[in-house]
Amino acid sequence: MNQNTLDKNPQGLVLFVDMNSFFASCEQQVNYWLRGRPVGVCVYTGKFGCVIAPSIEAKKRGIKLGLRLNEAMQICPDLVPLETHPTRYREFHQKIIKVLRKYCDDVIPKSIDEAVMNLTNYKLVYKDPEKLARQIKTDIRNEAGDWLKCSIGIAPNAFLAKLATDLQKPDGLVKIMPENIDDVLSKLQLTDLPGIADAMALRLRRYGINTPLQLRYTPPEKIRMACHSIVGEHWHYRLNFSEVDMWAHGYKSMQAMRQISRAQRQSLRILEELFTSLCMTLERRMVKQRVFCNEIYFMASYENGFRWGEKIKTGKPVQDGTELMQLIRVRMKKFQEANHCEPIINKEMTAMGITVNAFIPDEMVQLELFENNIRKNTLRRVVYDIKEKFGFEKMIKASELSEEHVLKDVIGFGSVKDLHDDLGNIFD
Ligand SMILES: [Mg+2]
Repeated sequence: MNQNTLDKNPQGLVLFVDMNSFFASCEQQVNYWLRGRPVGVCVYTGKFGCVIAPSIEAKKRGIKLGLRLNEAMQICPDLVPLETHPTRYREFHQKIIKVLRKYCDDVIPKSIDEAVMNLTNYKLVYKDPEKLARQIKTDIRNEAGDWLKCSIGIAPNAFLAKLATDLQKPDGLVKIMPENIDDVLSKLQLTDLPGIADAMALRLRRYGINTPLQLRYTPPEKIRMACHSIVGEHWHYRLNFSEVDMWAHGYKSMQAMRQISRAQRQSLRILEELFTSLCMTLERRMVKQRVFCNEIYFMASYENGFRWGEKIKTGKPVQDGTELMQLIRVRMKKFQEANHCEPIINKEMTAMGITVNAFIPDEMVQLELFENNIRKNTLRRVVYDIKEKFGFEKMIKASELSEEHVLKDVIGFGSVKDLHDDLGNIFD
């Protein structure tokens, strides 16, 4: 890819909308008394509850995300602690997305409080994207809620547009284009880039890449070596206006499938293990892509050429491999009983496949299932992050994840913070 042509003539146009202090602003939207006051939204409002979403006013008073309430009240005695109302946030989210869809049908919600508008095919329609951004801000106030503010970033790709929203908060409007990108990057550190954490910054520094500006002008092959991964090259493309992130949640479905040899199908235990491994493979992929599925399709074929397949609507978003297994088993059992037939998993099976689809981003799910599942879902992610880091080959059984005492030990609020951190929750 020729860097110079990219620089001069970027193809894309992306507008990134990031709602400011979203949960707290929603609370202030529905309760006039809360407006202008420091508000701390918490899952629990007891002494040791922690603030997962400070309002703009609370942030100004030094209330940081993840702070325990007893400390927060010392720092800011007139802080108003409030419990979360996930349904409320979802409703506002939908209203906001509706506003954005008025202007372009290519709107991808990235999380509960963020969305990407791909305006690449609308460049002739919106010749002045800043004007559009200001119009969107006004529309959000008029049609979603007059207390709701957002930061909007405009750039040739989703990554830079996201970065632009981080540069001005609240109520920001920042454009990153070929004419100002070097200036913007020269004021930033590596870890200011969404997706670059300390470990990654260290790897880059070892190769003499110390700043975002240097990263932009480092050849892709060198970044790849520094990162020990093809993913390294993406950093070059991101900073040179190519699109590598837009489709992060663009998966329509994921499939895991196994052919079963004659020897394998002699053993029911092996068949069960294959079934388990398919479910765990899909769990791993969904965790990696940060999605949950709402639909499962199970398919089996047999020596005599017959096939059995069933679509299962999960009824709630699912990511956990053991939950996938349970849902499929329940359906098999129902079918077996209704038809008085032998088990679906039997010694004549020649192939078995599972497809999951109808995805939603994990952050949306964590909201829906807040109280009960936030720890479990976080832990699953943490386990995979650790495994990725250390390259563990062996799959940790999902049943180990559901042990309540294990969860309590492992999850401090650093990881709860990660769930709600503005950075790095999109760009894997
Ligand atoms: Mg936000």
